[in-house]
Amino acid sequence: MARVTRFAPSPTGPLHLGHAYAAMIAAARGDHFLLRIEDIDTARCKPEWETAIYNDLQWLGLRYETPVMRQTSRIPAYGDALARLTDMGVTYHCTCTRGDIRAAMSAPQEGVIGPDGPVYPGTCRDRQHSEGALRLNIGKAMQAVGAIHFTETGTRPGDHIFDSAYMTERVGDIVLARRDIGTSYHLAVVVDDAFQAITEVTRGEDLFDATPIHVLLQRLLGLQTPAYHHHRLIRDEQGKRLAKRDDARALSKYRAEGLTPADIRRMIGLQNG
Ligand code: GLU
Repeated sequence: MARVTRFAPSPTGPLHLGHAYAAMIAAARGDHFLLRIEDIDTARCKPEWETAIYNDLQWLGLRYETPVMRQTSRIPAYGDALARLTDMGVTYHCTCTRGDIRAAMSAPQEGVIGPDGPVYPGTCRDRQHSEGALRLNIGKAMQAVGAIHFTETGTRPGDHIFDSAYMTERVGDIVLARRDIGTSYHLAVVVDDAFQAITEVTRGEDLFDATPIHVLLQRLLGLQTPAYHHHRLIRDEQGKRLAKRDDARALSKYRAEGLTPADIRRMIGLQNG
């Protein structure tokens, strides 16, 4: 079967060495290499950063297939998925602010940090609100599908299994649709990976803990679970992972200084491609 991989950057800042690494891994592992612009957070995304992504990938010599998918053109598909989940009875509206959540978590046992931050204490679960963010009732969702698993070929190779206790205690009722943007990273990534027929999701190991959420959503929506390949993160000299604000390591800066794509490969430990 042809391997289909993708690079899915958000245009919220310059691509840096970590992105170059992620894109090269994805390109090397796919027979078909796709690009997806994750631009749903319109308050943080800028057209000039999107243009910079195309320029940087071209400079690196990474050729992706077209058309490029942009998540802002996919809002109806996210709406359909949310409607299906709502029909299944596994969602509810939540009107909590960050402050409400912090206040509800003042009890010492309530302090578990999940993939999206503090595990939601469930305040709105039975309140029958008709507006606000849409959350997944993860207990009900797990009841519907049973234990979930995925195959990892990257930093933690093997089959990973997650049961209902893990999902309710360590992940909690995650947000499926933010009030302002009508979707969330988790929902969009699942709907789009399926639509683009991705066979192996390659991405940084910082997203490993989000993967059970994605597999759960795939099961609920009747979508195939791809293989996952989480790769190591590129770190600075202090061992801190690079972030968008690390402009000093922006690819465009290295390019302006006269470095070549081969230099970039060497810097991220990919001498042989
Ligand atoms: N858009 C995400 C990022 O910029 C990557 C999402 C993914 O690969 O699943 O980090």
